[in-house]
Amino acid sequence: MIDAAPIASHFINGEYVEDKDGTPIPVVYPATGEVIATVYSATPTIIEKALAAAKAAQAEWAAMTGTERGRILRRAADIMRQRNHDLSVLETLDTGKPYQETSLADATSGADALEYFGGLSGSLTGEHIPLADGDFVYTRREALGVCVGIGAWNYPTQIACWKAAPALACGNTSVFKPSETTPLCALKVAEILVEAGAPPGVFNVIQGLGEVGAALVTDPRVAKVSLTGSVPTGKKVYAAAAAEMKHVTMELGGKSPLIIFDDADVEAAVSGAILGNFYSSGQVCSNGTRVFVQKGIKAAFLKRLSERLANAVIGDPMDPETSFGPMVSEAQRAIVESYIEKGKAEGATLSYGGNRLDRKGFFLEPTVFSDVTDDMTIAREEIFGPVLSVLDFDTEAEVMARANATEFGLAAGVFTKDLTRAHRVVAGFEAGTCYINTYNDAPVEAPFGGSKLSGVGRENSKAAIEHYSELKTVYVRLSQLEAPF
Ligand code: NDP
Repeated sequence: MIDAAPIASHFINGEYVEDKDGTPIPVVYPATGEVIATVYSATPTIIEKALAAAKAAQAEWAAMTGTERGRILRRAADIMRQRNHDLSVLETLDTGKPYQETSLADATSGADALEYFGGLSGSLTGEHIPLADGDFVYTRREALGVCVGIGAWNYPTQIACWKAAPALACGNTSVFKPSETTPLCALKVAEILVEAGAPPGVFNVIQGLGEVGAALVTDPRVAKVSLTGSVPTGKKVYAAAAAEMKHVTMELGGKSPLIIFDDADVEAAVSGAILGNFYSSGQVCSNGTRVFVQKGIKAAFLKRLSERLANAVIGDPMDPETSFGPMVSEAQRAIVESYIEKGKAEGATLSYGGNRLDRKGFFLEPTVFSDVTDDMTIAREEIFGPVLSVLDFDTEAEVMARANATEFGLAAGVFTKDLTRAHRVVAGFEAGTCYINTYNDAPVEAPFGGSKLSGVGRENSKAAIEHYSELKTVYVRLSQLEAPF
């Protein structure tokens, strides 16, 4: 029996806090189905404590120099890297993702965000704008105040850090609510930030279901909301934030196209399709789940894809050899299985996988459908699981129209050796994050986010600063001031 119980459910004002009056939330290890911890949903008292702590800490945190704030964030990044093993094990317990993945992609990318925004913090400035007669304007880049972060369950450490790092660098404080499916990892981020020197109240974590998130979003003390989640939740949260004209960042779902032209390197294209569909058992928002393959390369692509999927090592996620783990929950597996049934019923060809594994836990084989057409449900709706759809195409003009015929716009990719075509294709994509001969990279230095229904705003890079601060304009008159009367 694994015991992953945190010291307490919430982390507020620099310490762990418990309130067992809240609804119990069992934490289930997806590889076995066993309950490894229980946390308690935040009661109104806990929500109040967290918001009050964040509000009280904000002015002093913003009054520190950016260099001082940055030093704390960079120290937190160092601690995260030193503890990468333990944090990766916890991430695996929380999500079921293989240790082979979590040890490379989770605490490490969280640390990258803390280091990057820690580095930027000291150089966040306004500007000087000269006017006539010596008059001038200067701008001050100011913090927004208390920022609420709400996370999805696929990257609990990374999402907490991607939201905390730019918020804190700009002088904001934060209350973060993880998904109730993966409540453990964000608590460690809060603990590490305090250990690195963050004053109490600067970064708080409270648990709960959607209603806790909704209570945070509507509180008048909150200036900004950053959500990573599905489009339906995004619409609700955006609308609630709009009622008070709050700032938002929305990182939502997708149904991204990945176009493979005849002239592509088959091995590279197959690698792109694997990285864009099966990493984290397919539970990645930017996945290129509509794989458009030009007819001349289709047979070779499908053959190599099946051969390489057969090399996936599916099993105990803690075994460093395992490269493909379970789905996050029984419920998510059931959703994905219902899409697999729809794919079959609507006439797609099941080319690979499609079945549960005969073992404990929420395992589902990597699954490939071919002969998928644009009108099929599996080609239109986000599945959020290991299901890749192959759609055939003839011409560039045709595939571009079909690739963009979606309400989503998170990501898009192209594989071709013709670089002129590659740049033309990405210029035509209606998507926020595009890839040429690669897929699903997300370095902190580059803006990440979606267009259309996939989101608003950008995370990572200098672009995130615009979403966690605002400019105050100051007019300064040195010349004689006159008035009409
Ligand atoms: P959900 O939209 O179900 O939930 C996201 C978060 O919002 C959870 O913490 C949830 O709480 C909370 N929430 C739900 N309702 C409300 C509400 N009314 N007010 C405030 N908060 C609320 O998404 P999932 O957790 O199922 O994650 C999967 C989705 O996330 C996919 O669509 C995926 O594409 C997207 N995603 C987007 C990414 C991006 O960067 N663009 C990255 C990763 C995922 P709880 O669930 O605990 O009740």
